[in-house]
Amino acid sequence: PQPPPLLELRDVRAAYGRITVLHGVNLSVSAGQVVALLGPNGAGKTTSLNVASGTHPALSGQLMLGGRDLTGANPRDLARAGVCLIPEGRGVFPNLSVRDNLLMMTFTGHSRDEIETIAFERFPILAQRANQPAGSMSGGEQQMLALARGLATDPAVLLLDELSMGLAPLVVARLYEQVAEIASHGVGVLVVEQFAAAVLGIADHAAVLVRGRVQREGAPDELRAELSALYLGSST
Ligand code: ATP
Repeated sequence: PQPPPLLELRDVRAAYGRITVLHGVNLSVSAGQVVALLGPNGAGKTTSLNVASGTHPALSGQLMLGGRDLTGANPRDLARAGVCLIPEGRGVFPNLSVRDNLLMMTFTGHSRDEIETIAFERFPILAQRANQPAGSMSGGEQQMLALARGLATDPAVLLLDELSMGLAPLVVARLYEQVAEIASHGVGVLVVEQFAAAVLGIADHAAVLVRGRVQREGAPDELRAELSALYLGSST
């Protein structure tokens, strides 16, 4: 029998106050898989990630992790269960050095050396930047630091929000190569992007969220052609 998916949202509804923004979302991410969650502004992509990481409650539906029902679990418990959210805007501490941004991850139980090894083997540029304030690095380098911090938690599932935000296409392509590499070691990755082109190149599956509903899903190649018609204009 197939193992259960690492992460599953089942018929999730979510709201802010009286305004419902997710109307029964189903998503599933398996080990080693990159799933792209695409859709226009305000579709509910970030909210879906927030439900998956326990930072926003679902009104109804279920959050399953490796077949376990963790609906209603708090962010800490979900982090312990292996869910790692890398928020839009990257969540690094701009005034701290790159090294200090990494070393605060010793709460994970990894030693300083282990954390630096995890980070610097995958992103050698971070070693060169170790003593520099994180906020003085390029956007792409900051995103690498955010990924390295996430990897230090030994995630089972990585949730990436708009990794490409504000970055040049070539930088985005390189980051996504690393994301694909991370997935190839068995991590399940759910990537939210508004503009699709780069992530479709590495995704195994893609879903398009429109006004809180998965309007379409399938193989990235199948969706690529339709996406512009669905909502993206000519930008893909
Ligand atoms: P974007 O690409 O613009 O971030 P998104 O697809 O990630 O869009 P969400 O951020 O999940 O969409 O937002 C879904 C809807 O919920 C939007 O209409 C948004 O205005 C609303 N919303 C998001 N956060 C809040 C909040 N804290 N309070 C009230 N409404 C919110």
